[in-house]
Amino acid sequence: MLPYATAAEAEAAVGRGLTWAEAAWFRYSAAIPDYCLYCHNVPILLLVYTLAPLPLALLELRRHLPLPHKLQPGVRHPPAAFLRCYAATARVLLLAVGPVQLASFPAVRAVGIRTGLPLPSAGETAAQVAVYLLVEDYLGYWIHRLLHTPWAYHHIHRVHHEFTAPMGYAAPYAHWAEILILGFPAFAGPAIVPCHMTTFWLWFVLRHLEAIHIHSGFKLPFDPTKYIPLYGGVEYHDYHHFVGGHSQSNFSSVFTFCDYIYGTDRGYRYHKASLSKLKEMAGNHVEKGDENGFGNGKQD
Ligand SMILES: [Zn+2]
Ligand SMILES: [Zn+2]
Repeated sequence: MLPYATAAEAEAAVGRGLTWAEAAWFRYSAAIPDYCLYCHNVPILLLVYTLAPLPLALLELRRHLPLPHKLQPGVRHPPAAFLRCYAATARVLLLAVGPVQLASFPAVRAVGIRTGLPLPSAGETAAQVAVYLLVEDYLGYWIHRLLHTPWAYHHIHRVHHEFTAPMGYAAPYAHWAEILILGFPAFAGPAIVPCHMTTFWLWFVLRHLEAIHIHSGFKLPFDPTKYIPLYGGVEYHDYHHFVGGHSQSNFSSVFTFCDYIYGTDRGYRYHKASLSKLKEMAGNHVEKGDENGFGNGKQD
């Protein structure tokens, strides 16, 4: 809830006229308690999870439509798989993530997530999100690596690996404990560099979209993320799922540098080098599936 009764009071406090975005934020949030603003995160994430993977899911569900950009063209998930995945994930989001998010408001307040005016500039927002990405990527790398130790894999992480050919809806498909554990690296960035509530929402939306993107199973030619330096991308994480539970490769979720530094991308690099050698030798006779990705099926 903002400490100003009117826009004029807000302008006086900021010391200038409100921008268009600030006026909109004032109109929306002035009378809403901070706790309720924080609670927006859960429905926003559920909305993003429902809508973002939908276009590629609809493409995949059209059985006779050729999918030249699918990384594992031999695997086409049936409608039942989509429904089972969506229902299980939505249940975890609502019954585990939701309550934890709601209960974590004191932590959000303690680290200094603010709701007032002025709003952060675009530059400040971009810099904060970049920091959050780096922090989340580093911590997430080590947590993911630990999840691949025998006990943690068997009891927790194997649920996420049920999809050896991932799809967007499988991005947060995981054991409830894994979803909660991975909330820590996502929250660590805002805890270290506190931001405005709008940046906080944006960060979780972007993180969610990124996870959906790398699980999409499609390597699209117009994908703008290929221009982001050191970004892992779809093919990178798809390989991690393709190799399956025994995978000791490609633990990073966003960038590639942790895997490079700690030597956990060797299998992937060897695989890519073998594929390109094969392609070179076979010229145009290499089958489409191998050109795009990792063959047609599950390995573990
Ligand atoms: Zn894994
Ligand atoms: Zn995954």
